[in-house]
Amino acid sequence: MDLSFSAEELAFRDEVRAFLNDAWTEELASLMGSTETFKEGQIEWQHRLNKQGWLAPDWPIEHGGTGWTSTQNFIYETERSAVGAPGTLPFGLKMVAPVIYGFGTEEQKQRFLPKILNSEHWWCQGYSEPGAGSDLAALQTKAELDGDDYIVNGAKVWTTLAQYADWIFCLVRTDSSGKRQDGITFLLIDMNTPGISVNPIDSIDNHHTLNEVVFDNVRVPVANRIGEQDKGWTYAKSLLAHERTSIAGVSESKRKLRKLRELLATEVNGGVPLSQDTMIQSRIADVEIELMALEYTELRVLASTAAGEGPGVESSLLKIKGTEIQQALQQLYMDLAGYYSGVIQGDMSAESIGHDFGSEARRAYMYGRAATIYGGSNEVQKNITAKYVLGL
Ligand SMILES: Cc1cc2nc3c(=O)[nH]c(=O)nc-3n(C[C@H](O)[C@H](O)[C@H](O)COP(=O)(O)OP(=O)(O)OC[C@H]3O[C@@H](n4cnc5c(N)ncnc54)[C@H](O)[C@@H]3O)c2cc1C
Repeated sequence: MDLSFSAEELAFRDEVRAFLNDAWTEELASLMGSTETFKEGQIEWQHRLNKQGWLAPDWPIEHGGTGWTSTQNFIYETERSAVGAPGTLPFGLKMVAPVIYGFGTEEQKQRFLPKILNSEHWWCQGYSEPGAGSDLAALQTKAELDGDDYIVNGAKVWTTLAQYADWIFCLVRTDSSGKRQDGITFLLIDMNTPGISVNPIDSIDNHHTLNEVVFDNVRVPVANRIGEQDKGWTYAKSLLAHERTSIAGVSESKRKLRKLRELLATEVNGGVPLSQDTMIQSRIADVEIELMALEYTELRVLASTAAGEGPGVESSLLKIKGTEIQQALQQLYMDLAGYYSGVIQGDMSAESIGHDFGSEARRAYMYGRAATIYGGSNEVQKNITAKYVLGL
């Protein structure tokens, strides 16, 4: 594989750097860093990307995608994370949008895709239920036809950022008579519909991102159904492959590793910078080697996606390795911050005590435990890899 950039690619990299220099400002970073203004900041960031035409690189060009090559995608992601700019919200842009442009009607594409692009609709994902996580086909939330509407009853759980959401995409049961996967339907539900309540679930990092969403006789027009009734499992699976690919977080891990090296060069133990401690060097080298291997695997998956194949079961490998690396890095930051990382502070923007990265190290470590669970637990991804990649 030739890894040097062409003249056009270098020009593209300059263009990305110039854009980020203008668009990713300290003011925006501080908006996003506070719980109160996080939503406003995220939407403003997405507006800036959309104005540039770069909000949805993976979408088909006719719907607003960039048509970038996998190398351009790689350059953009590398530069973005190098300056610490955040990614986009995955639920609308990376999860439900591919389902809508892949399986939705023309009317649904016209209705929903532009509103995702201009961040008018904040989406959340209603898959998991109290009794259905890894075994998603066990889901019980029921939808019964009543004229031109479905009546939905049941509860979804662990619904990330549902407190901000305008819409939720849901898997619901429309038939219980046959194979479990055959009676599931994919619905798009307006969160303002009467009968929906959102109950917060506080997580171990002391923040509110998770929720329970309860449906009590909620009317959903049949026009909001994706594809055919009872065939939702097919659409749901394609979405999960996109979700797992984006969870790998390679460029973000690269940025964290770079930052960690800087910190290690300035932190001193017994008169010697920690960067010269052979134990730490060895741990960093382990993570770096894994990260390089993951990066090439991701490039291969991106190249096949760009060639129209869509992410396949390799997305499970990306998810497993990507989240293991994230957790190894979080552990290194915690070890570096030492006991200062134990100080509990409420707001994301609160100043750290001791090392200025201590509070964030703790928060990231705590929330990071979930990465090997969400998007399909790593144990289950290993089962998928064993069956479909290794043929066991
Ligand atoms: C932070 C966070 C955010 C989330 N956000 C969302 C969201 O926005 N929307 C949404 O729909 N869901 C969301 N989820 C839910 C997530 O997808 C589920 O938690 C996940 O699929 C696991 O399901 P479960 O929690 O029911 O655990 P279970 O399925 O009960 O699993 C419990 C344990 O058993 C193991 N296990 C289960 N089955 C097998 C098997 N066959 N082989 C080997 N081991 C197995 C699992 O690996 C796990 O360790 C989120 C979860 C978290 C933690």
